[in-house]
Amino acid sequence: MQESKITKSFQKNCIHTKHIFSLYDMPKNDESYKAMKKHLENCSICNNEFQNFQAKNTQALTLIPKFSMDRDLRQTFEREVVELFKAMDLNDRKLLKRNVKQGFIFLDKMGIEFIRNLFSKAMIKTYVFALVIFIGLKIFL
Ligand SMILES: [Zn+2]
Repeated sequence: MQESKITKSFQKNCIHTKHIFSLYDMPKNDESYKAMKKHLENCSICNNEFQNFQAKNTQALTLIPKFSMDRDLRQTFEREVVELFKAMDLNDRKLLKRNVKQGFIFLDKMGIEFIRNLFSKAMIKTYVFALVIFIGLKIFL
C-alpha cells in the first residue's frame, strides 16, 4: 500500500523538473542544454511541465506592457536633464567664485605686503597678475 503510494508520487515527479526552466537561460550549444532537451523527449512529466511553463511564459509576455517613452515624456525628461545640468553648472560657478575670492584675498594680502616691502618687482608682477585674473574672472563670471 505504502509502496504503491511512493511509486505514484515518484511517477508524478521527476528530479529534473525543477531544472527544465533553466533551458530558457542556457545557450543552445551547451551540453546541459542538449542533455535537458533529450530528457524532455523521454520524460513526459518534464515535457508537460515545460509546455505548461512555456504557455504561461507566453501569456505573461503578452500581458506585460511594453515600455516606450512617448514624445511628451521624452521632452520632459530632456528638459529636466537640461535643468539639472544648468543647476550643476551654477553650483560649479558658485564654487569657482568662492575659490577665486579666497584666491584674491590671498593675493590682496600679498599686495599689502608688497607695499610694506617697498616696490619689489616680483610683488608688482604678482599683484598685476592677480588684478588681471580678478578682472578677467569678473568679466567672465
Ligand atoms: Zn523528467
